[in-house]
Amino acid sequence: MLGLAKGLKYTLKNMTKEKVTYQYPEEPIPMPDRFRGIQKFYPEKCIVCNQCANICPTDCIQLTGKKHPDPDKKGKVIDTYDINFEICILCDLCTEVCPTEAIVMTNNFELAEYSRDDLFKNLEWLDENDQNIREENKA
Ligand code: SF4
Ligand code: SF4
Repeated sequence: MLGLAKGLKYTLKNMTKEKVTYQYPEEPIPMPDRFRGIQKFYPEKCIVCNQCANICPTDCIQLTGKKHPDPDKKGKVIDTYDINFEICILCDLCTEVCPTEAIVMTNNFELAEYSRDDLFKNLEWLDENDQNIREENKA
């Protein structure tokens, strides 16, 4: 009986305390400011300089460019941009070297897939990966 009373007392005391759990996945988990999550890509900002692919330690970025569609403008525009998340270590180096911030880290960490092939993410997927973008990286 004493044990029951002790248990009830403990329960009642903790019912009024602030919750430390989240209703994940319905409620997103707030990540720290410097969390390195899955990249967001802004194709319109990319100048096809290849620096991200060159610095990548795991060689998981593949990109191609094409001539600018406007004949009056010089340089290239991005044509394809793929990241293989099977081997990406989310080290942040690609985003650090990008001169135009065309590629940025987000706070998104949800990348579970049933197939390894689904871990290859293309330009369209990376462009649409705009959940949980850090405030300073919003276009
Ligand atoms: S985060 Fe690192 S491993 Fe992943 S694509 Fe960028 S440079 Fe490569
Ligand atoms: S470093 Fe930036 S601008 Fe250069 S190719 Fe990569 S994403 Fe594009």
